[in-house]
Amino acid sequence: MNQADYLAEVDHYSAHNYLPLPLVLSRGEGAWVWDLEGNKYLDCLAAYSALNQGHRHPAILAAAKEQLERLTLTSRAFHNDQMGPFLHELCTLAGYDKALPMNTGAEAVETAIKAVRRWGYRVKGIPSDQAEIIACENNFHGRTTTIVSFSTEGSYNADFGPFTPGFKIIPYADLDALEAAITPNTAAFLVEPLQGEGGVIVPPVGYLAKAAELCKKHNVLLVVDEIQTGLGRTGKMFCSEWDGVHPDVMVLGKALGGGFYPVSAMLANDDVMSVFKPGDHGSTFGGNPFGAAVARAALAVLVDEALPQRALELGNWFMGELTKLESPHVAEVRGQGLMIGVEIKPESGSARPFCEALMKQGILAKETHEQVVRFAPPLVVEKADLEWALERIAAVLGAAQPVH
Ligand SMILES: *Cc1c(COP(=O)(O)O)cnc(C)c1O
Repeated sequence: MNQADYLAEVDHYSAHNYLPLPLVLSRGEGAWVWDLEGNKYLDCLAAYSALNQGHRHPAILAAAKEQLERLTLTSRAFHNDQMGPFLHELCTLAGYDKALPMNTGAEAVETAIKAVRRWGYRVKGIPSDQAEIIACENNFHGRTTTIVSFSTEGSYNADFGPFTPGFKIIPYADLDALEAAITPNTAAFLVEPLQGEGGVIVPPVGYLAKAAELCKKHNVLLVVDEIQTGLGRTGKMFCSEWDGVHPDVMVLGKALGGGFYPVSAMLANDDVMSVFKPGDHGSTFGGNPFGAAVARAALAVLVDEALPQRALELGNWFMGELTKLESPHVAEVRGQGLMIGVEIKPESGSARPFCEALMKQGILAKETHEQVVRFAPPLVVEKADLEWALERIAAVLGAAQPVH
């Protein structure tokens, strides 16, 4: 089969719930991927930050192979010798008493929603079924029916109702709106420390710190979704650290699985986590020994190779270079660490044709929202790779004529 055959097959048999760039990948290593014809591309999406450690990192690959030879799945009906060490290492790294392992990001967010609601009733004393959770406009927390119930993106929830009640929406980065939205029934404020899917929106310095203060003042739990921003992406191990914030509840996913396997977790201290008793919540695959072994190696790589620091240094340099391009098509370059958004001016059309042109140059980037091209390569990317990319990005963005 050639590329056209694969594209036709997917068009025929796959639900059309995505609009991928028209290329078929068959191999990956580090920050690079290859298509069927052997063409090489720099992966500047990194699976929405699930590949912070790069494709097939050798240390994670070795841990995965070793675990595959021993034990892959037990369910939580029995203990296994990987889950405990994994959660111990994760809690130590992130500074929490306990973690609850799940698989996908959305499941970990759902877990956090259940935890804070129950905390609201059993600890805070909110009347039964009255708990409120505050979330932000332009949020992205996943795709389950409850989570899309509080999405403000039409295509995420149109005609998927009836929706789960109990959520209040406020503008992002608006502290007055947060304080005004809090009532005695508010259990939690759920927020991304930087909105990734929303178009790489970086809130003002101090936003999360002040939000944390407001939450504390009103006995509201601060739940920070670090699924995309956490594990090194923004130049700190956790993006919340930029504001010196240690959230009451943290949600992790994506890079926790090192690009091999879905692993997610909700982290909290005992005051919140103790609301779960045997039988109250679970997952057949959550905490499985294969995923746990992979995640242990994935965390070790982040620490051993100082990937957050690398994201900071390379990200600062790369963002500076992108800013210097002075492209006629670019309205703004913004970001933190190696999560960078380049906003295309409306008069230059949408971001999609620029992504298609970048693909032809050997750079895989994806539009997020209509106008933003996101550059978020694996954190193991070399400076020389980014220099190579910059020349090509300049050619695409600097073109005297719009590329479409
Ligand atoms: C990707 C993402 C999720 C959902 O994770 P899945 O593994 O796709 O379910 C939730 N929150 C944020 C911030 C994300 O980027």
